[in-house]
Amino acid sequence: MNDLRDVFHRPLRSLRVSVTDRCNMRCRYCMPQAEYVWLPRDSILTFEEIDRLLGIFVGLGVVKLRLTGGEPLLRHDLPALVSRLTRHPLTDSALTTNGVLLARYAAPLREAGLDRVTVSLDTLRPERMVAFARSARHSEVLEGIEAATRVGFTRIKLNTVVIRGFNDDEIVDVLEYARTRGLEARFIEYMDVGGATGWSMDQVVSQREILEIISRRYGRVDPVGRMGAAPAEQFALADGTTFGVVASTTAPFCRTCDRARLTADGTWLLCLYTESGLDLRELLRTGASDADIAARVAETWRARTDRGAEERASLGDRGVLYPLEGLRADPRREMHTRGG
Ligand code: SAM
Ligand code: SF4
Ligand code: SF4
Repeated sequence: MNDLRDVFHRPLRSLRVSVTDRCNMRCRYCMPQAEYVWLPRDSILTFEEIDRLLGIFVGLGVVKLRLTGGEPLLRHDLPALVSRLTRHPLTDSALTTNGVLLARYAAPLREAGLDRVTVSLDTLRPERMVAFARSARHSEVLEGIEAATRVGFTRIKLNTVVIRGFNDDEIVDVLEYARTRGLEARFIEYMDVGGATGWSMDQVVSQREILEIISRRYGRVDPVGRMGAAPAEQFALADGTTFGVVASTTAPFCRTCDRARLTADGTWLLCLYTESGLDLRELLRTGASDADIAARVAETWRARTDRGAEERASLGDRGVLYPLEGLRADPRREMHTRGG
């Protein structure tokens, strides 16, 4: 395996590819505005371009792929892309989706060779989803989760961003929903990423609080550790049920981060918090060879010092990452453009 390392000796193993910046929901922690500046259509990477880049990344050590967005299922013919990408020698291929269109795509995605799906489910109450994500399609999300199970996906995860005053009273309900269906709940602290223009520390429900709430209901909660470089820390209930907590805000873990991100228009970002990245689309479209692109990527990774979440956590007075004008000036700073 290629042993490319960054300045902190972290390997490059995982690539998150945003396939579109569009979304059919408007979660308040990600896309709170009424209007957005979208990436120009002709700048969006084609399937051939994504496939070619993945091949180059695999040559540099990437073994894990996650497709994300925006809402990845809005990308036309996504299963066709998946079947191309899963031909590469990966150990894991996954998709993060809001689930609205999953009932329709679960079977073709599985047939295309996708290994896993993660569905974002912040609430079990349809009216809360209307208020918080401007979507009345809650029943479709639940149907999507059922369809994913039915067509044979295993290790399905549910992502729940916990926000004080919105869904912190549903932690146990979501865990029960997951537990009784053999799914794995992952509770995510509200992060001050680009796009989260309404973020404030008092809305963050910390990992410690999440664990207290869970142990009040279930008794002892045991830490199980972290699966390799995964962002979630794993915990187990006495009956063996496991769940994860992503404590990126109060207890970030950049030390082993082996992830990088590709925006839908081909900007390669070394960290969720980074301001700018390497323009791979430009290289692709100006005739650079695979070897040239691999050399630029390798050189960039070797110089990587990013530890965005840890740096944010060390700030005394913490506010939003970018003011609105900063986001409008460069839509690649948005969470829905760089993918979660
Ligand atoms: N649209 C898909 C979805 O929602 O699953 C994929 C893209 S979304 C950007 C990926 C993940 O990022 C979701 O699980 C979402 O909850 C998470 N996310 C977005 N904004 C966040 C924030 N401010 N704090 C924590 N997680 C966030
Ligand atoms: Fe919500 Fe995902 Fe859409 Fe962001 S990209 S608004 S998290 S569904
Ligand atoms: Fe990795 Fe950046 Fe997230 Fe830290 S903040 S875990 S370096 S992506």
